[in-house]
Amino acid sequence: MAVMPGVDFRPVVGEGALRMHRFDVVCLHTIGGPSDPPAGAAHFSTHADGRIFQSRDTRFRSEANANGNHRVIAIENDDAPKRFGSWNTDDGHAVPGFTPEQIQAIARICAWAHKEHGIPLVACPDSRPGSRGIGYHRQGIDGNFGPFAFGGRVPDGEVWTEHFGKVCPGDRRISQIPQIIKRARIIAGLDEPELEEDEDMQLIKGDRADAVFVVVWSQPGAIAVRKRVPNEDDPGFKAARAAGYAVRTVPQSVIDAIPDMH
Ligand SMILES: [Zn+2]
Repeated sequence: MAVMPGVDFRPVVGEGALRMHRFDVVCLHTIGGPSDPPAGAAHFSTHADGRIFQSRDTRFRSEANANGNHRVIAIENDDAPKRFGSWNTDDGHAVPGFTPEQIQAIARICAWAHKEHGIPLVACPDSRPGSRGIGYHRQGIDGNFGPFAFGGRVPDGEVWTEHFGKVCPGDRRISQIPQIIKRARIIAGLDEPELEEDEDMQLIKGDRADAVFVVVWSQPGAIAVRKRVPNEDDPGFKAARAAGYAVRTVPQSVIDAIPDMH
């Protein structure tokens, strides 16, 4: 089994499905509508509120990346107008950005794919067969992308769709991939968060535990990772207090719901 812990797993394939050959890329898509029910063609789907659905054990191929299916983990992402404000789904320039909750959810999936399958948490440069990392669907799409900020398939790149000119996942979403990689690397324990520079940092304390936690990249509904502060001499903790952060007490259940920083 290769199922991510804590997700809503609704398998659409089982034994007998085509197997992955190797694991090179996590590819981001935009779904062109809601993600509930989830997109069965992809491995994962994220909802605007941060919920994660998994439709396929990652031992099996998706059907979302055409010639890349043997080596690509596919994530579909909610962009439904009813949640993202009315937008023209026929206008490739109008695709909205990811919500903060989706950025966090996608980063968690990428961190899991790194630990489970060894996919590197770096930007995938293109769809060429040797390219690896976190990529996006347009990298494997032929089209007239001149008016867009990001181009399509490069020579020798794998073809990731039969639909000419598909803009998936939209310029706004593509431009958010560096933040997703940055968060994924922290969740995976590869990088330290920049505590002193992070304006969204909060110091919180549970109502049952006596430890204080530094919560990094906390936005409404999108708390990222927590770091236990064992004592008041911790450098990051002291720096935060010096910068005027107060310790806030919250229900222990809130702290328990935040993933630990490794
Ligand atoms: Zn796509």
